[in-house]
Amino acid sequence: MSRMPVVFVGHGSPMNAIEDNDYSRTWRSIADSIPKPEAIISISAHWFTKGTKIMNEEEPKTIYDMYGFPSKLYEIVYNSPGSPRIAKTAKNLISRETEYDNSWGIDHGTWSVLVHMYPDRDIPVFQISVDADAPPETHYKIGKELGALRENGILLFATGNIVHNLRLVDWHKGSKGFDWAYEFDDYINENIIDKNHNNILKYNEIGDVAKLAVPTPDHFYPLLYTLGASDEEDRVRVFNKSCELGSLTMTGYLWE
Ligand code: ZN
Repeated sequence: MSRMPVVFVGHGSPMNAIEDNDYSRTWRSIADSIPKPEAIISISAHWFTKGTKIMNEEEPKTIYDMYGFPSKLYEIVYNSPGSPRIAKTAKNLISRETEYDNSWGIDHGTWSVLVHMYPDRDIPVFQISVDADAPPETHYKIGKELGALRENGILLFATGNIVHNLRLVDWHKGSKGFDWAYEFDDYINENIIDKNHNNILKYNEIGDVAKLAVPTPDHFYPLLYTLGASDEEDRVRVFNKSCELGSLTMTGYLWE
């Protein structure tokens, strides 16, 4: 079995689920360029909880955790099977207390991207939540522990956005970003390329730029799981490196 890569995707607007654009085409080509996974574990910005949760349903439901979008989006069903067996293995690998929780489902952070990457819905998928109260180091550590699954053909897939400030979204910016958005995205990019993960875990110390880019950590923390699961030998592929609406970066990373 081939050792699987690890991927972080900037998902952006839920509309990407139904659009054929540069982002969605890149997601598709990424999936085409890596081995087909046995299963996918998704760490989504949108399952932001108290404590670490893991879903273990045979048939996880699709959920529509966004409001005011065209009805076409609410008709998408991402009905891949789940995998209680692999969920159990993952739960055992995580050293901190982790609970099964099937109150959530496959959320738009996951399905808006997977509909492009794996449209056939034949690969088991389940999610692990992001503990809102845990510090960056904890998310990184969980990622490291889950990294063992790469040997089993399992794709660790994290979905968020490195710069994500909805309050400062500026429609006039179109496909451009504020200076601070590029600055933060570049800071993360350089440290990913140089494998200086400690600088990323300490992102808050860079001050105002970090406060603007990451006003709340929900969309940023998923990145830390993939960083933790990556290792020294991995080659890093950067994709969709861009900013839109001023305060949203779409940058993604693949470690292989
Ligand atoms: Zn989102």
